[in-house]
Amino acid sequence: MLTVHTQSFAHGVHPEELKEQTVGLPVARLPFVDRYVLPLSQHAGAPSEPVVQVGDQVQRGDVLARPGGFVSTTLHSPVTGRVRALAPRKHPNGQMVAAFEIEADPFATQQLPRREPLDWAAMELDAFVEQVQRAGLVGLGGAAFPTHVKYRLPEGRRCEHLVINGCECEPYLTCDHRLMLERPAAVIRGIEIVSRLLGADHSTIGVELNKPDAIDALRAACHGRTDITVTGLAVKYPQGAEKMLIKALFDREVPAGKLPLDLGMIVNNVQTMAGIADYFDDGKPLIERMITVAGPGIERPANLVVPIGTSVRAVLEYCGLRAETRQVVMGGPMMGQALASLDAPVLKGTSGLLAFTEAAIHHDVEYACVRCGNCLEACSNLLNPQKLARLARGGRLDELEQACVNDCMECGACTYACPSGVPIVHLIRTAKATLRRRKGSR
Ligand code: SF4
Ligand code: SF4
Repeated sequence: MLTVHTQSFAHGVHPEELKEQTVGLPVARLPFVDRYVLPLSQHAGAPSEPVVQVGDQVQRGDVLARPGGFVSTTLHSPVTGRVRALAPRKHPNGQMVAAFEIEADPFATQQLPRREPLDWAAMELDAFVEQVQRAGLVGLGGAAFPTHVKYRLPEGRRCEHLVINGCECEPYLTCDHRLMLERPAAVIRGIEIVSRLLGADHSTIGVELNKPDAIDALRAACHGRTDITVTGLAVKYPQGAEKMLIKALFDREVPAGKLPLDLGMIVNNVQTMAGIADYFDDGKPLIERMITVAGPGIERPANLVVPIGTSVRAVLEYCGLRAETRQVVMGGPMMGQALASLDAPVLKGTSGLLAFTEAAIHHDVEYACVRCGNCLEACSNLLNPQKLARLARGGRLDELEQACVNDCMECGACTYACPSGVPIVHLIRTAKATLRRRKGSR
């Protein structure tokens, strides 16, 4: 079933899409490299706990580390090879963190050992949740929140509606678009598995209208089904945020401090659905993912399947990194993170690598706030970004909490809209980190 919505969420921004470099490029596979670095912490929650030792031989898909708690997940080897080290290595966030280093076996075929499909239809919900945790799946839209946690339904709660995010509203990124185009059956299969296990009555896939071919492909893949709807949405940032997607699709508000489940909904990304299908049908855990490599600093932009743990440098060299590149961002330009080192690895949550030359970098010359109100108009969470930035700069933490700083999803729309170059989201992000530390030390 296809519907088109003209309604949307409040506010938001319309950054230039800049997707033309890669949107027409079929997904290719990055060749295997010699060495992979897998941080134990590359998801929200507790780090994973090692179960193999330095010197051990591992097969592609073997478990390297088990979950370190319920809000944690499993880490697998992306290649057949040998554990070279378990030691501090560079993380994309700039810190040195405990990580496995795996040396690929140059003579291995790197075929994933064939496993029997899991009989998911016969599973109880608890067993399903455990399997999703074993698969190592996290939200692949960028947040890297362990997927199974969303499926553990508290007593008395029900997921009536499964909501699938196919918006890909960040500029430059097109890997979700290509996935919907090239593997629509896998997305629908993942939806079938999850919705059946959760007991959801209906599933809705939200796709922005700048991807008409993806909408057609998904519609064809679920042809004749009345339990899945594909809905085209007006193009706007940050439509991929859970609360904005729900508002745009159903005109319903998730109240501050509440979750989609409070409205009987669970939101997942399209790549996560394909990951569910890959694990339950083919036994393939999360050992690789699709990413977009683009930007003016890239000679051969691409959509690639990349093993988790591949160094950013290896990916960029494969795509031709121009000498004029001055900045590399992991993720999209709105919410992504500028990298301090190209030796950092691609993580489970990495949706893209963008290389910018001097001319394309937005230099942050900051002027005084002119109280134009653009940031208020941009914030779809209806916060007052200018006030939050001022309080954050002054270190006024209690007032920041009262101003609902924790409702900020760090989407960057306010910073994008600010004519004075005030680094609003940076100030908010830093203050939120200070608040978290303060809570932890109490
Ligand atoms: S970063 Fe936070 S304050 Fe700024 S627009 Fe997004 S939600 Fe609003
Ligand atoms: S957009 Fe920038 S200049 Fe305008 S009110 Fe917000 S912080 Fe001030």
